[in-house]
Amino acid sequence: MKMPSEGKQYVTILGATGSVGINTLDVIGRHPDQYELYALTANSNWELLADQCCTFTPEFAVLINKECAPQLEDRLLQAGSKTKVLTGKDNLCSVAAHEDVDVVMAAIVGGAGLEPTLSSAGAGKKLLLANKESLVMSGSLFMQAVERAGTTLLPIDSEHNAIFQSLANGAPGHADGVRKILLTGSGGPLLGKPIEALSEVTPDEACAHPNWKMGRKISVDSASMMNKGLELIEACWLFSVKPNDIEIVIHPQSIVHSMVEYVDGSVVAQMGNPDMRIPIAHGLAWPGRIDSGVKGLEFTGLGDMNFEPVNLERYPCLALCQEVAWQPQSAAIALNAANEVAVQHFLDELIPFTDIPILIENVLEQTSREEAHTIESILALDEEARHRAMEFIRAR
Ligand code: NDP
Repeated sequence: MKMPSEGKQYVTILGATGSVGINTLDVIGRHPDQYELYALTANSNWELLADQCCTFTPEFAVLINKECAPQLEDRLLQAGSKTKVLTGKDNLCSVAAHEDVDVVMAAIVGGAGLEPTLSSAGAGKKLLLANKESLVMSGSLFMQAVERAGTTLLPIDSEHNAIFQSLANGAPGHADGVRKILLTGSGGPLLGKPIEALSEVTPDEACAHPNWKMGRKISVDSASMMNKGLELIEACWLFSVKPNDIEIVIHPQSIVHSMVEYVDGSVVAQMGNPDMRIPIAHGLAWPGRIDSGVKGLEFTGLGDMNFEPVNLERYPCLALCQEVAWQPQSAAIALNAANEVAVQHFLDELIPFTDIPILIENVLEQTSREEAHTIESILALDEEARHRAMEFIRAR
């Protein structure tokens, strides 16, 4: 068994082939003296995973799609790589929680990230959380696991990382002296589009974010501002605040990544170029700092910075999240599941963009409001909501 060299941290990246995973490897690649890879995981993109294994020599590569494993094994064999290939969800959970691992980056997209992220939350490691859907789905179970295991939970979503950095005592769950949190959002690529034209939006238009380069699911969520709504729910759990402690502000330039206002009137903001390597480097090095590869802000060339209130008529998905944030866990599970089904069908050009909130509202109307304290009950509610979402689509 390979062990990390003295003084280095051993890292697992869940979702290594995605946008956050690639950015994480970029930062790690700048600090070979500090980090070594234990495991890299992907769903089916074995070609990129093979390249990553050749460059970063992890102990394990995990693929969910078993059919792709022989190709990955062949490629690694040809390259003389010693990385061992594993498949399936159990192995995903085990590399997320293995005792040798120091740091886990949770960057799988959607509810598929729930079980491995939760495994890591309960394993007492440093957990860098990008997969917001897992916290939205399992809030109280997740935070209890973190507390019980003494896990160091660091938010990687740029907004939550900014809030974390702006909190005086620097730790989630201790928002003392805070009057409110100002959660900023760019408004996405459709901010200036007439509301009547939103039904004609194509997947490529919805994914053309003006400031951030991200995976397609979160890009659509940004266009609908579902992403901001999921972030609202995520922030409530991370920082132990209520939905009305958080004000959502449109800031099209994405320079201020969020702010905290204190009871004495001070407002502390975190700023930087819109590049995920900043929060990733912050999480990896916390409580220290490392170079992320991102240039500092050129303040004299920045131009205007605007801040506007949100028009909920334009962003009905956000309005739904604001209601769900007050409701028992089953509502957040149903909202997340219905959104994932709707976004995939929109990306596949099977439903229009404007059907996304209609579908979610329909599923929410059929969902009983109940708490969910076990992984089994969460997964059952998730499945039920996905089933209802599919029924709605079939009936359209
Ligand atoms: P991507 O779509 O770019 O990447 C997703 C990753 O998850 C890929 O490695 C993919 O593997 C893997 N994956 C997909 N489905 C499964 C599955 N069923 N089981 C296991 N692994 C799977 O997503 P992003 O990097 O954009 O986002 C990842 C998470 O980070 C999301 O929760 C998002 O909300 C959050 N986030 C992302 C930001 C960004 O800038 N992108 C910013 C803030 C938060 P494969 O390549 O094989 O499909």
